[in-house]
Amino acid sequence: MQEQVPFFAFRDFVPGVQQQLEQALVHVAQRGNFILGEEVGSFEKEFASYLAEGTTAIGVGNGFDALVISLKALGIGAGAEVIVPSNSYMATVNAVLQVKAKPVLVEPDKYTYNLTAANAEKAITPKTKAILPVHLYGQACQMDELMQLAHKYNLSVVEDCAQAHGAAFKDQLIGTFGDAAAFSFYPTKNLGAMGDGGAIVTSNALVADFAQQYRNYGQKQKYIGELVGVNSRLDELQAAILRIKLQHLHQYNAERQRLANVYLQELNGVGDLLLPQTAESCSHVYHIFNIRTKQRDALQNYLREQGICTAIHYPVPVHLQPAYIFLGYGAGDFPVAEELALTSISLPLFPGLTEQEQERVIKAVREFYQDK
Ligand SMILES: *Cc1c(COP(=O)(O)O)cnc(C)c1O
Repeated sequence: MQEQVPFFAFRDFVPGVQQQLEQALVHVAQRGNFILGEEVGSFEKEFASYLAEGTTAIGVGNGFDALVISLKALGIGAGAEVIVPSNSYMATVNAVLQVKAKPVLVEPDKYTYNLTAANAEKAITPKTKAILPVHLYGQACQMDELMQLAHKYNLSVVEDCAQAHGAAFKDQLIGTFGDAAAFSFYPTKNLGAMGDGGAIVTSNALVADFAQQYRNYGQKQKYIGELVGVNSRLDELQAAILRIKLQHLHQYNAERQRLANVYLQELNGVGDLLLPQTAESCSHVYHIFNIRTKQRDALQNYLREQGICTAIHYPVPVHLQPAYIFLGYGAGDFPVAEELALTSISLPLFPGLTEQEQERVIKAVREFYQDK
């Protein structure tokens, strides 16, 4: 029996990184300053300056909290409607519900799977207060048209950057367009910690101030509660890890893009496969390499038999999730999102996937269609 090709694995493909990570952990352990210490402060500065001059990053507990706190900082709450793509991960919609606002779902673009200004505009009502574009699978949204739309209707924009650290629209990194942006450092994300982590990025001083206090029980000064906050602090050990990984993010993303290009070349024209498409001016950092086929389940089973692990992003669109029945949507409301859920399958793609492993995936996918 051949070894499995994993869907994802933590592989230290840059020489020396594992040692650096271990040293950083020991260093924090020896220093003994575990909450909002030097590492969190330094990571926040380094991440902000990586993204763009004039931005502030605020480390929080996870990507979900980054979304929730961003929305709260912008005054989005009960009575407000927030436009969200109908094909994101559940976290995005949950964050809107968490602040008691109403998520208004919108069909994604047929080819990029991202929110478009044209579709978002159709969903705007007098109650709309914000747009929440998700840079899905690692591809930047068309941010100029979304920002223009937001200005036209005086809406806030919160970017969900959980899958797209380092992606850019027209050479400007995502996370720097909206009023606030939410990043997740969940371990498998393009920039991942060794546990949970997240950050809010903003160039609005009021948003930054709110987030800094809110994540730490509303304190600006110790024991003085300026507002009713929560505990959602980026962990000091995670920040130490992220400082090191951030230095290699560009390299990790370049490796993802190289692997994606091999798939794009080798799977072009195979069977009925629809390969990922990248829109003009948008860069793609391939958090997920999603392909589409009418024979999705059969392909997944065939690959499984060949020892190749795949994943489905996402098997049930947001509007058909049992938890959201109360939103009142039903089957047929979002045909593009529904078709995506039925036809999508994600192939193994991560820094450190070997040439042999990728060849096996390509060969197996081709064989599947030859047998048909
Ligand atoms: C991962 C993810 C999140 C949530 O991040 P956590 O750190 O797991 O809370 C939010 N939105 C999208 C699109 C994600 O992929």
